[in-house]
Amino acid sequence: MTCQEFEELSGAYVLGALTPEEKKAMDEHLAQCRDCAAKLPELQAIVNLLPLASQDVEPAADLKQRFFTQLQQEQLSTTGRPSRRAAILPLSTRAAARRSSGRTLRAALVAVAAVLVFSALGGMLFWNLSLQHQIASLSANVVQANTYKLQGTANGASSQGELTCYSRQQVCIVVMHGLPPISGNHVYQGWLLQGKQTTSLGLFTIRDGTATLPFQGSTKGYDAVAISLEPGPTATPQAPKGPVVALGMLQGLASNTAPERAQQSLADLL
Ligand SMILES: [Zn+2]
Repeated sequence: MTCQEFEELSGAYVLGALTPEEKKAMDEHLAQCRDCAAKLPELQAIVNLLPLASQDVEPAADLKQRFFTQLQQEQLSTTGRPSRRAAILPLSTRAAARRSSGRTLRAALVAVAAVLVFSALGGMLFWNLSLQHQIASLSANVVQANTYKLQGTANGASSQGELTCYSRQQVCIVVMHGLPPISGNHVYQGWLLQGKQTTSLGLFTIRDGTATLPFQGSTKGYDAVAISLEPGPTATPQAPKGPVVALGMLQGLASNTAPERAQQSLADLL
């Protein structure tokens, strides 16, 4: 296994989504490659944060301001300039960006660590979704991520969450808060929608009111992501049987007509 192959599978590795053969190949590479072994805990740290994220708690305004001022200084001192997403750099400077990515990641991890310290002090988890976005955009320098919002439908009005995809690692995770409680064998199942086609993403795991669903692959070519309440206990094949409780549009990845197509396919489902 090459370092590039290792990197591509690293997201799935930390999410425990590899086949036994792939995991064995990864473990063998880890045992003899110090570079990859060093990168893995950093990715693990970021992925670990996802299910924890975003209790809607508003901190004191000055605390937040002080934190971001300090964070900005940290960014300036490690990179010599304010952080910019790798995606908007011209190609010729990408390599330079990559070389500095170790430092940028450390800055992002410092930010994450600082948040956790504040959380412990303040007795709260995360401030809010906007903080999560700022951390995500810092992390994007190293771990390129796309984020899409999910909103509850009439069947799950109080729920909201996000789908985050790590393009290089080909790993995505849906994190939802406030889904209605389920009873009996019922389960929440994730779906990708492309026109009238639905593709199952599997079942959500619910812990402390937060529902998470990691999956391997990308959302390329899909119009929307949906969550439905299914009879369970196993996943429903092919198309949702139960009500759709939350939806998110995957705009920007597919064609210009994607929003209309998604609206149409959602209208068919609801
Ligand atoms: Zn390697």
